[in-house]
Amino acid sequence: MKIARHLMRRAWATATLLMLTAACLPAAADCDATRLGVSRVLHLELAGAPVPDQLAPGEVVLSFDDGPARNGRVLEALEAECTRATFFLIGQDIPGLPGQAQHLINMGHTVGSHTHDHANLTKLPLADAVTDAVRGREDVEAVLKQPVALFRFPFAISTPELEAAVSAEGMIPVGVSADGKDWTGIPPEDSVAMILAKLEEHGRKGVILLHDPLPKAAERTRLLLQALKEQGYRVVALEGPAG
Ligand SMILES: [Zn+2]
Repeated sequence: MKIARHLMRRAWATATLLMLTAACLPAAADCDATRLGVSRVLHLELAGAPVPDQLAPGEVVLSFDDGPARNGRVLEALEAECTRATFFLIGQDIPGLPGQAQHLINMGHTVGSHTHDHANLTKLPLADAVTDAVRGREDVEAVLKQPVALFRFPFAISTPELEAAVSAEGMIPVGVSADGKDWTGIPPEDSVAMILAKLEEHGRKGVILLHDPLPKAAERTRLLLQALKEQGYRVVALEGPAG
């Protein structure tokens, strides 16, 4: 049954691949060498190595949780540097903001799921936790009409048991290396300093976490991108099994 479901998902993926390829092209104009840009696309597979293990020193992945945001200011900040991020969306919020979710794809970004209701899955019985994660993915897929394999645990908290359980459902958990702690309300400059320090701790590489719906998110993003550029970091975009 599970295999049949995966095959169906694969067929769906193939059918939408051409459309996706067209939609995922970078937003073109003025993307010269002075911009941060995207150095490469990392294609993720089920049960693959954790993302940081697939990065070289100097490589970072930009990720934003808890969207979609009502405004597109973070997207403008990313577009100004011709770079791409992965957005992990909360399922229950998407029906009210379907345009915003689709806009992420149209702008060339990657979309993942972040459960249906942002529960701390480590506090739920395993079966309930998996149900919440699967429902969240289905919420996103229903609006985007495409497979969504990448997944982020709420609060970036998980257990090996949970990681295995969501992987068995065809999801790829993407962890966090450098949390900007923007959710604490600290100034954007402090978020950026914290992220840079964490990246250093992880061998000058890793997955960066910010939250696009929070106040000052765009300002924080602009500062971060500027700092990454000044320090010679390269941005890696993520891509799920479906492309
Ligand atoms: Zn979250």
